[in-house]
Amino acid sequence: MLQYQPRQDLLKGKTILVTGAGDGIGREAALTYARYGASLILVGRTQHKLQAVSDEIAALGGKNSPCFTLDLLTATIDDCHSLASQVASIAPYLDGVLHNAGILGVVAPITEQPSDLWHDVMQINVNATFMLTQALLPLLLKAPNASLIFTSSSVGKQGRAGWGAYAVSKFATEGLMQVLSEEYKQSNLRVNCINPGGTRTAMRASAFPDEDPLKLKTPTDIMPIYIYLMGDDSLRKTGGSYDAQPGRKPGAAE
Ligand code: NDP
Repeated sequence: MLQYQPRQDLLKGKTILVTGAGDGIGREAALTYARYGASLILVGRTQHKLQAVSDEIAALGGKNSPCFTLDLLTATIDDCHSLASQVASIAPYLDGVLHNAGILGVVAPITEQPSDLWHDVMQINVNATFMLTQALLPLLLKAPNASLIFTSSSVGKQGRAGWGAYAVSKFATEGLMQVLSEEYKQSNLRVNCINPGGTRTAMRASAFPDEDPLKLKTPTDIMPIYIYLMGDDSLRKTGGSYDAQPGRKPGAAE
């Protein structure tokens, strides 16, 4: 979906939490949601990056965006609950959560995937995302309607040589999304995945160092599906896995 024309006040009155909000796609999603009227809660690893995004939102005329640093590599379930109670003290409920933070690990065959890095990828992309979801679910269920979005990848739907832990973590993310969407089918909560497709960010550059980044869509280009799934136009959509760039051939830009 690259052609959606949302109303300018689509997200007015909504409170949305974004992880990995300091850089790349997460940063752009936070800024975009603020432009459409949402209040943001910014979660990430690096405080000064989050603060810079919060300042940019303020400069756009947006509301104050509280920032929370949480390193998903070391976060425990108690840390996630502590974050959720801090969020609860500033917002009665959450209308949306975008799980965007993630790491690539290394592009290498399975025989050469270092096992410690494998564990780190699973910890950040899957285990911490699960724990944070568990802690934030009560706040989502208190909203009139809520949208929970996970970030997948084309290698999370079709395995590809060399994508090791990252691909496996994204298959797990798709699974988590599907299970949750079934569990909450009769509720106010919808749960979906977005596959950004190759996008001009630091992570993409580390996966494809020889690629010309100018051949890639930017985070701004891929925002339509992020907006659609967060706003009320997608109220009845749950259990879906959406490509931000439909029809794009996975792999290096040609
Ligand atoms: P970036 O590397 O540009 O940004 C990743 C974000 O995640 C950063 O804000 C980073 O924080 C945060 N993060 C990384 N590790 C941790 C951690 N341990 N704890 C908390 N936050 C962390 O990546 P992209 O913007 O490209 O990727 C965003 C999402 O999109 C990821 O889930 C990725 O897998 C997915 N994706 C991206 C594609 C692409 O082509 N770009 C294609 C398919 C999927 P900090 O800045 O502080 O390091």
